[in-house]
Amino acid sequence: MASSLFGQLDRSLHDRLGDLVRRAQRGDDDAALNLARVEIPKIITALRALLDEHRPDERGRCLTCRRRRFSRKLPSPCRAYLAAHLCLVIAEDARPDGYGHHHLHRAS
Ligand SMILES: [Zn+2]
Repeated sequence: MASSLFGQLDRSLHDRLGDLVRRAQRGDDDAALNLARVEIPKIITALRALLDEHRPDERGRCLTCRRRRFSRKLPSPCRAYLAAHLCLVIAEDARPDGYGHHHLHRAS
C-alpha cells in the first residue's frame, strides 16, 4: 500500500517533468512564455527546497545524507547537491553556443 502510494507519487512527478520538457521542446510561443513565467519559478522553488535539504555544512558535508546508513566520510557535497550543480551550472557552461554562459557563473 505504502509503496504503491509512493509509486504513484513518483510517477506523477516524473509525468509532470516529462510534460514540461515536451512543452519546452515542442510548444509554441505561448507555451514557452507560460513555461518561463509560471513553470520555471515553480521548478526553482522545488529545487531550492531540495537544495536546502542537502546544503553542505561548513565542512562540505550534507547533514541529510549523513543521517542515512551509508554516510559519507569524505568532506564533499552529497550526490543530490552535486547532481543539481552538474545539471544547472556545469552543463550550462558546457553548451557549445555559449548561451547562458554568463547567467549562472559562480565566483567560486
Ligand atoms: Zn544530501
